[in-house]
Amino acid sequence: AKAILEVNRLKKFFEVNRNQTLQAVNDVSFQISEGETFGLVGESGCGKSTIGRTILGLYHKTAGEVLYDGKDIHGLKENDRFKLHKKMQMIFQDPYASLNPRSTVQEIISEPMEIHRLYRHKKEIKERVYQLLEEVGLQRDHANRYPHEFSGGQRQRIGIARALALNPEFIIADEPISALDVSIQAQVVNLLKEIQHEKGLTFLFIAHDLSMVKQISDRIGVMYLGNLIELTKSEQLYDHPYHPYTKALLSAIPIPDPEVEEKRERIILQGELPSPINPPSGCVFRTRCPMAMLICEQQKPPFREIAPEHFVACHLYS
Ligand code: SF4
Ligand code: MG
Repeated sequence: AKAILEVNRLKKFFEVNRNQTLQAVNDVSFQISEGETFGLVGESGCGKSTIGRTILGLYHKTAGEVLYDGKDIHGLKENDRFKLHKKMQMIFQDPYASLNPRSTVQEIISEPMEIHRLYRHKKEIKERVYQLLEEVGLQRDHANRYPHEFSGGQRQRIGIARALALNPEFIIADEPISALDVSIQAQVVNLLKEIQHEKGLTFLFIAHDLSMVKQISDRIGVMYLGNLIELTKSEQLYDHPYHPYTKALLSAIPIPDPEVEEKRERIILQGELPSPINPPSGCVFRTRCPMAMLICEQQKPPFREIAPEHFVACHLYS
């Protein structure tokens, strides 16, 4: 399949205080194919949300490029950017904060359609809202209610309906289930999967939890402190992780079978996550890496393909 999104050597730095630079995203490259779900995983503060926002053009980039369908997103004229926003939508982490509490569900879901003048008549918009509510597993008569009348899972469904309102091609879901009860998470993931299959959407699914991402993603990229450190197909990442950080993340996922769980080695990372304002020299993971060597302090490991379609940034494999 053809790459619909290309992120090439993207950097996003923020100036903080005076003379200090926060390196939120540092030289990250990946591509997403049409119809693919790409999972981006890492601890909070690793830069994954910043990548999502920079892809959408909500942030200016510092360096590198983001191409959507071959076009440089950050080089678009305002009118073309407006048109592109119709194709690319975002689902946010916190369904409590992302829905206006004073708007009805009808108003919330209609808003993007009105901004983009998708329909001429109010009645058409209303019908479309009903249809969208049903698509996400809610009911028509929910349209006249307010966000506070719904549970967390239902609110996320409202957010999903709004993201679908413009018939987008590409959806960035930024931790869409992290704020929800565990019992509800699988339902929302299943809904997203269904929608993706039905509509052939392309997804960038951002999460800090590797277990949920595995179920939904075709390929997964693992981030640490603004850097992409491993990228491959989902099963390959779970069965044959190479990077010491990925290994540690995977070892933290509980296994339901107690016998297997007992025998398994758990890798506990020492130390704190360093600040992206003063990231370590060389390999950004070296201060917590159980395998760190002298070269890790001196040289940044290149992001290399070490097995077919399996990319890793680690000196152990160079
Ligand atoms: Fe660990 Fe060195 Fe590999 Fe970094 S490059 S992950 S410090 S072994
Ligand atoms: Mg985030």
